[in-house]
Amino acid sequence: MAETIRGKGVISGIAVGQVLLAGQNLDGYLAAYKPGTVDEEQAKANEAISAVTEVLLSTIDRLRKEEQTEQAAILEAHRMMVQDPMMAENIAAKIAATGSAPQGILDAANEQAQLFEQMEDEYFAARAVDLRDVGKRIAKYVLGVKEPEIGSSQVILVGEEIEPSVVAGMPTEQIAGVILGSGSATSHVVIIAKARAIPTVLGIGDKIDLIHDGDEVILDGSRGDIVIRPTEEERSLYETKIEEQKKLAAHYAALKDLPAVTKDGVRVELTANIGTHMDVDNALTYGAEGVGLFRSEFIFMGSTTIPTEEDQFKAYRAAVEKCGGNICVIRTMDIGGDKPLPYLNIDPEENPFLGYRALRISLDRHDLFLPQIKAILRAGLYGKAAMMVPMVISVSEIQRVQKLVEQAKVELAHEGKEYSDDVQVGIMVETPAAAVVSSLLAPYVDFFSIGTNDLIQYTLAVDRGNAQIAHLYNPFNPAVLRLIKRTIESAREAGIWVGMCGEMASDPYAAVLLLGMGISELSMSAPSIPRVKEMIRSVTMEQAKQLLDDVMKMEHGVDIRAYMHKTLEASDASAKI
Ligand code: PEP
Ligand code: MG
Repeated sequence: MAETIRGKGVISGIAVGQVLLAGQNLDGYLAAYKPGTVDEEQAKANEAISAVTEVLLSTIDRLRKEEQTEQAAILEAHRMMVQDPMMAENIAAKIAATGSAPQGILDAANEQAQLFEQMEDEYFAARAVDLRDVGKRIAKYVLGVKEPEIGSSQVILVGEEIEPSVVAGMPTEQIAGVILGSGSATSHVVIIAKARAIPTVLGIGDKIDLIHDGDEVILDGSRGDIVIRPTEEERSLYETKIEEQKKLAAHYAALKDLPAVTKDGVRVELTANIGTHMDVDNALTYGAEGVGLFRSEFIFMGSTTIPTEEDQFKAYRAAVEKCGGNICVIRTMDIGGDKPLPYLNIDPEENPFLGYRALRISLDRHDLFLPQIKAILRAGLYGKAAMMVPMVISVSEIQRVQKLVEQAKVELAHEGKEYSDDVQVGIMVETPAAAVVSSLLAPYVDFFSIGTNDLIQYTLAVDRGNAQIAHLYNPFNPAVLRLIKRTIESAREAGIWVGMCGEMASDPYAAVLLLGMGISELSMSAPSIPRVKEMIRSVTMEQAKQLLDDVMKMEHGVDIRAYMHKTLEASDASAKI
């Protein structure tokens, strides 16, 4: 019997395939296991640790060769956990207590994982998953449980929690989709799936028991729907959807090399938001004209220690080179808020989004900031790199950044390292303070990029991650539109370029209003580029300005969105599907 369940869609796309249960339950194997003496069990654990280390090392080596540095860093962290002397001590103690190698290994890993979980923090919860992953891998070796075997057909990986190493260890073309019982959007398995654009749904809870190994499943990563054992009717409904998606993709592919230019010749640059340099290739296939936001904090989050200047330089250089002559805007690390870094040992905060984050940390911790600035300046030699600082609220912060850029240049010269003198330095306008005083900030910088994800939450006092008040989080709110308009005007008066890298930039209706305000660049997740481009190519500047005039007289955000939709729907291919 077919069954449809709903989880949280975190990576869009429709996938069809056979289920492969990846997060095996080891209870049956443990019950059947016959332990030897404590010494024998200890020897088995040691052998398993060496074997798992070897497999990890060869996977890390392969991933590095494929330049999958982020995935390699995650597995490198696993390797360190496997070889951690504390873990070995803990395993020995647990084997002595239980008399069983696999049970002792699992108990030791669980105990350490629980310590992380007690911190009630999403980042640490994700590290707890990593620890359990490591424990399971070693225990599976002792129990003789094989890792999922992959044939030639595409599979949908399903598990309560799936070990990141399982996804990282499989070829991309063999994973059609991922379904997780639990999981969070920032867990490592999701980061890996995102880098590979694998449709993913998480948070289905107990309903995972309805899915069995080998079942046919359809998953919709945008809506979060999962159809288990679909009927003919359901299959053909989704086949129609897949066909429509393909047609739309072909329609958009034809736009790839065309410029985003209005009917009367006003050009807007469309660039991509990326998390790692590996995302650039994918972005270019959608017609991205460079990168408008490289979220560099992912390099920091994928590592267990502070990444060195050299590590960062390699990643930035790769991204800058891949952009060719187009711009590559590297945002300096935006740690804090929803992106904590355990190795910085920052005290828990009541209000992390209003706390010690982003530029506030960078300006305090020159040991972190200077190597990052140096890496960006050095990468500038390989193309058109730009440096952008997040969370600015005042002129004095920019002045301090400028001094540090000068210091970085002096140090580089002293160290005999070459760097570019032409790296633009700009800021994100993502606090109401920055938008309000944008005319004061503009003379000090080369560009603005408006970060609406934060600007909206701070302006409207609406947590960007709180589903209960999501209806209040409206980019078309008149207060938000006024701050954006003011920012664009300040930039134009000062003669600097102004872009937007918040999610609002990917809304085609918003893009028309932004065009009317005089924006010069829009940066977004790459798959959104063609839709926005098509909209820009369908309007005139005069029309955009008229629409802007109209909506600036309106009082309600919902009415503004509806008005834009009604007026422009005919030009929006996706809206017709
Ligand atoms: C933003 O705030 O709009 C932005 C682009 O930054 P992030 O989403 O990384 O906070
Ligand atoms: Mg932000």
